[in-house]
Amino acid sequence: MSTPSPYDLVIFDCDGVLVDSEALACVVHADVLTQYGYAITAEQVHARFLGRSAREARAEVEAELGRVLPDTYTAQLRATIDQVFGERLRPIPHIADTLDRLSHRVCVASSGTPTRIRSSLGTTGLIGYFDPHMFSALQVERGKPAPDLFLFAAAQMASAPARCIVVEDSIPGVTAARAAGMTVVGFTGGSHCRPGDAARLLEAGAFTTIDDMRRLPNLIADAPIAMK
Ligand SMILES: [Mg+2]
Repeated sequence: MSTPSPYDLVIFDCDGVLVDSEALACVVHADVLTQYGYAITAEQVHARFLGRSAREARAEVEAELGRVLPDTYTAQLRATIDQVFGERLRPIPHIADTLDRLSHRVCVASSGTPTRIRSSLGTTGLIGYFDPHMFSALQVERGKPAPDLFLFAAAQMASAPARCIVVEDSIPGVTAARAAGMTVVGFTGGSHCRPGDAARLLEAGAFTTIDDMRRLPNLIADAPIAMK
């Protein structure tokens, strides 16, 4: 007889875990910031803002510039991402097969806006696995790396944090999930990932890392409950 899984909920980050969006988003984010007078490369956006909300990235840039970005900034960033994602966004390889194989309940906890989560999962054909269980950093006071969003998602799904396992690709995301008392699997299969990412996610508190989603179902069956 097999032992029952210690988990009753799998919480997926969206960008870089369900959809291969981060490489595209970093290029757009860097282009638009540069147009608005804050010169930055896609590499620098990746290093500084990966896994965090656009709202928080904007606040950090404004603090550094010593001025507020015009109202058109957010609209242009959104419109350009809409266009690029509409043309080029793809699901993470094998994610649909993996979701088909998982017997656990699932939800999404993302730093993106509710509209962005819905459109990204819709474009890539994944929304049916999650709808309506998709939670956004805009629904809580503090985004990742604070634990708020993961605790909110667990509460909405009526799961105890210790029975949640999180799949994350960013350091703020891993930090947030650990602060929420959850077990974390680091995912390094996105096209934005670099050598050394797995080691960094482990250092941030991931229990283990995978670069192929097909490993996830067995891993979840075997992973230990997180120690607080
Ligand atoms: Mg992510």
